[in-house]
Amino acid sequence: MVNGAVFFLVVNFIIAICFALVFAVVAVRSQSRQAALWFSAGFAVASLSAISELFVAYTDLSKLFAVLAFATVLGGMILLRFGIGELYGVRIAPFWAISFFTLCIVLDLFIYGLPRSTLRHALSYQTPFALVILTCAAAVFASRRRARIDRVLGYLLTATGLHFFAKAGLAVTAGAGAAATDYIHTNYALISQGSTAVLIVAVGLTLLSVLVLDIMADERSNSERDVLSDLANRRGFENGVAAARLVAPAVRHSVMTCDIDRFKSINDTFGHHAGDKVIRAFADLLKSNAAPNFIVGRIGGEEFAVFMPNTTVETAMLFASSVRLGATGITVEGLPPTLTVSASFGVADVPAGESIDDAMRRADMALYEAKRAGRNCVRQARSASPDIRLVT
Ligand code: GH3
Ligand code: MG
Ligand code: MG
Repeated sequence: MVNGAVFFLVVNFIIAICFALVFAVVAVRSQSRQAALWFSAGFAVASLSAISELFVAYTDLSKLFAVLAFATVLGGMILLRFGIGELYGVRIAPFWAISFFTLCIVLDLFIYGLPRSTLRHALSYQTPFALVILTCAAAVFASRRRARIDRVLGYLLTATGLHFFAKAGLAVTAGAGAAATDYIHTNYALISQGSTAVLIVAVGLTLLSVLVLDIMADERSNSERDVLSDLANRRGFENGVAAARLVAPAVRHSVMTCDIDRFKSINDTFGHHAGDKVIRAFADLLKSNAAPNFIVGRIGGEEFAVFMPNTTVETAMLFASSVRLGATGITVEGLPPTLTVSASFGVADVPAGESIDDAMRRADMALYEAKRAGRNCVRQARSASPDIRLVT
């Protein structure tokens, strides 16, 4: 029959290797590539400790492998700490990490001959692990990332760190074997390796969740962004508006739509590439004029929309007028300085009960009026009525 602790050692080896591979794969897609690679390396190094423990029991080089088992667990954890430092922006200096690691190896060599199953031995053995994992938890809590998954990771790491002290207590009460070679035959080894299996899986999956949720958020923001202008695309604009209206459902907002004038002739005369530059310059103008809470989107070829939360239509009109004026000052490399870019604007209020589609339809009608009036001007749509008022 296979010894229970041996069974867990093999299982832990396989689990750690699996996580090492998964993090290496995730690193390909993650924006936190460096962190994922540290995690991969951490699990790969820590997996070697299981092999080392087997060699302790079944070879004559027990001291070498006992120290190696300790070193690989500790080294793997320190690599995880580097990854967490990278991911959470709370890094540690390699000098301190290496010094701490070296000191702990010396300590481990020193305590090797001491009687095991004493609190002194058990605490000396487990405290370095606890310290590294607790600094991982501290890094998570100290960082500015405050999502629920980050807090889960913080608490899990705290529990994992503290569990090493419990292990030390257990080593004393249950007995960790008279010598390193006996460890594998003790109940302590069975419980210790069993709890390690659970914690590796829990920490590994939580770290993986953090990275995967980041990838998903990144994908989502990519799918809502227009690459040419770096503004929200129509989907991003609509989602942004829906979120803003959800925050303040009873408030009157404003919306502006605008369209670059005679854009087709810019394309036809100076080429599509020059047209793209004009779109980009106009998008930059919108962005630099918009307040931080405005939602600015490119909703068509040379058509844009700006949603202004909790903004009166009068303020929205002022905003439109300043963008209109700014547009006439746009200069684009490759276009003659005599060419003046202009745009036409429609502004509408967005009363609490009206759908954004209806409000934008009114803004578009005002924009159409601006075009008909000769372009390069701003028109205001009357609240929920087709009546349109001239402003500039
Ligand atoms: P108006 O003043 O009435 O708005 O006239 P316009 O020429 O601006 O309007 P029209 O709708 O006739 O032409 C818009 C042009 O925008 C047609 C299309 O080829 C061009 N366009 C759409 N998307 C892009 C783009 O991404 N880049 C460039 N360079 N051109 C684009
Ligand atoms: Mg146009
Ligand atoms: Mg157009």
